Amino acid sequence: MTEQMNPPLKGSDAATEGNSAEKAALAWAHTARFLTTASRLNELPQTELPEVAFVGRSNAGKSTAINTLTQQKRLAFASKTPGRTQHINLFEMGPKLEANALLADLPGYGYAAVARGAKLRWQQVMADYLEVRRSLAGVVLMVDSRLGFTDLDRQLLDFIAPRIGNGAVKLLVLLTKSDKLNRSEAQAALAAAQQTLGELTTEEADVNVALFSALKKSGVGDAATLLHGWVCPLTPATPASGTPEEHVHP
Ligand code: GDP
Repeated sequence: MTEQMNPPLKGSDAATEGNSAEKAALAWAHTARFLTTASRLNELPQTELPEVAFVGRSNAGKSTAINTLTQQKRLAFASKTPGRTQHINLFEMGPKLEANALLADLPGYGYAAVARGAKLRWQQVMADYLEVRRSLAGVVLMVDSRLGFTDLDRQLLDFIAPRIGNGAVKLLVLLTKSDKLNRSEAQAALAAAQQTLGELTTEEADVNVALFSALKKSGVGDAATLLHGWVCPLTPATPASGTPEEHVHP
């Protein structure tokens, strides 16, 4: 599990390299556009594109995080309009005619005012989605940094634990609204989350946790860089110098 999401780069190019990866990731995130909405799993398009699902308790800051990461004011607004709050909203990412990933905004759970029957139905849809969506490449779980994991968050982690454990699905936990914590509270929140997530750790698991504030824009670049890396793994750059046999000639 990594707390620091950008592996530290060595040498004088470190800052430049880090910045350019972050710039590319933010530019990619900004391409997000609404694709479709579905109230049932079988209404979702079958796709080969890697999908990153955003999940979290209602009010955890999921819509704000999506809007901040994509640098769009109202992208996740659709998910908040009455009648759409329990839909899975899909957004397309990447070049216009060559989408390279999908972002799925799943309904927030645990909202007290939702009738129990509807709640259970939605928890089931969510569980099914997380267990069977074939193209699911990663999950971003928003957790309010002041509250930590709730029971429903833990249940959600249980749903995805097998796919996290075998490395099929990656996980990023964003501890949201971190601007509301002082430095030591923030460190304590991070340590507590890391401890819970330790249970998911296996050799193959790719589990990350980071403090995030939409208000202060902190953690945004790192989160975008991580997600970009999940769906668009970097093709190794041709080394400036290298032994000739390392190059493949056409
Ligand atoms: P959702 O239900 O998970 O989509 O949550 P929202 O994105 O609607 O956010 C819930 C509340 O938390 C709203 O009042 C937001 O303004 C507030 N909020 C979200 N992100 C932040 C943040 O980074 N800092 C602070 N201070 N408040 C935030």
